[in-house]
Amino acid sequence: MPLSASQIERYSRQIIVPKVGGRAQERLLGSRLVIAGDAHDVEPALLYLVGSGVGRIELALGKDVERANELASGMTELNPDVTVTALGEQPDSLTQLVLGIIGSPASLATVGALVARFPRTGWVAARTDSPARIAVLPSASPCPRCAAGGLLSPFGARAVNASIFAMAATAEAFKLLAGYGAPPGATLVEFDGYESRSRAIAPDPACECCKRGS
Ligand SMILES: [Zn+2]
Repeated sequence: MPLSASQIERYSRQIIVPKVGGRAQERLLGSRLVIAGDAHDVEPALLYLVGSGVGRIELALGKDVERANELASGMTELNPDVTVTALGEQPDSLTQLVLGIIGSPASLATVGALVARFPRTGWVAARTDSPARIAVLPSASPCPRCAAGGLLSPFGARAVNASIFAMAATAEAFKLLAGYGAPPGATLVEFDGYESRSRAIAPDPACECCKRGS
């Protein structure tokens, strides 16, 4: 759907960024995302993505459904183009991407459960224990289960600058939804302090995601 005059005004700072533009803004407004993690990691990511105009966002905060509803209800005021709700029980085939921020054993369990529930979406999965790492998985394979980097391995100690890695992962989710730049391959970014290095990751042929042939 073409952008309205008020949308062009609302997103003007973003539309003028090279490689974003009006098309990307339309893509963002039409996109559907699930954000999973602990409330304190999800909230800054949510504010950023609601401000960016990601059209439909669902929140998975594990058992903290009340907090998810509370966070969601505050967002319409911030950007009326965006619908935010707590993730329901119904399976949803329209979700394109899941942003999973793993910052505790509890959020690891939340994200782990969603890997089985969303086998056909792309993923951006962040681990904020040490060494911090972010996996950008644009299609259904490799999935977080089989991607290198131990994305679902037991959670260690939260890194001091964990919130920075959570926001770096959020920016990666934005880029995927906006179609920013060339389509990326599956990539693992590892952080050592503020230094980062990235490498391509291949799916595990023994994993379910490969057998589905996606
Ligand atoms: Zn897999």
